[in-house]
Amino acid sequence: MPTHPSEEEFMRRAISLSQQAMATGSGPPFGAVIVRGGRIVAEGLNCVHANHDPTAHAEIVAIRKACQSLSSPFLEDCAIYSSSEPCPMCLSAIHWSRISAIYYSTDREAAARAGFDDALLYAELQRPIALRQLSMSQVLPCEGQRTFDLWAANGHMAVQTRLASVAG
Ligand code: ZN
Repeated sequence: MPTHPSEEEFMRRAISLSQQAMATGSGPPFGAVIVRGGRIVAEGLNCVHANHDPTAHAEIVAIRKACQSLSSPFLEDCAIYSSSEPCPMCLSAIHWSRISAIYYSTDREAAARAGFDDALLYAELQRPIALRQLSMSQVLPCEGQRTFDLWAANGHMAVQTRLASVAG
């Protein structure tokens, strides 16, 4: 009977990648793998410092590689194993990618104790825009709307993402 690598083995690989990020100095200690059909289709480690890219979190790096490898922006039948609970940015990207399951090792509290605190982001999302720390101002909403009007006039529907259907 064929045996597939276990959840623990995939997680050990993600943790190993997090240690690789730390050892090479590519970024803070975070790693992730994306699994489909019992095998790893992409790996990522944090490359924020190596790439001078604040979005190069392990999960984002892995999602980009998996999508390139599978020639699709969607990863419906994939799971992601992350060495730490995905931050709000990565959680959003995981939703956009349609990954179907998330496995993580350390949680957000452990990450915060290590100096990686996402509490501000979680709190900001709960606040009305006017009360957020980061200034957000709407400019030219009517001119921007014309693009959506053209999109709709051309018969397009917002079916390209699963989020659109629930955001209504
Ligand atoms: Zn992240």
